[in-house]
Amino acid sequence: MGKKKQQGYYCRICGSYRANEKFSGKGHQQHICKDCQREQQEHKRALKKARQRAAEVGLRLPKRVDFTRLQAASYLQITPSQFDYQRKKLGVEHTGTYEGQNGTGYLYDIEAIITIFEAIRPDKDEKEV
Ligand SMILES: [Zn+2]
Repeated sequence: MGKKKQQGYYCRICGSYRANEKFSGKGHQQHICKDCQREQQEHKRALKKARQRAAEVGLRLPKRVDFTRLQAASYLQITPSQFDYQRKKLGVEHTGTYEGQNGTGYLYDIEAIITIFEAIRPDKDEKEV
């Protein structure tokens, strides 16, 4: 019975064997297929944009484009419950989802985080005591 032998080249990002034409010259060397290369480039662009936005409002540069609730809270230096509180209060919706160990989780992009940041930033007039 024997399995059919895998054809093509291995992509270390998506972990699949893909046809020769799915790799560029550089992609061959790095073991990354064209689709994954494109995705990486898009991600790079998105990260650059997120960093620009963060710099504009005075946040430290993010290392990621999408944040989980815990990552967002730690990035904003607040607790996850404070994050949830502000999120609900401001009506900030999640901007994506991910599949985690405990099921589907929500992701927030830099704009969602900036909305919360602007509401909690210390130099705001109305301080909550
Ligand atoms: Zn790939």
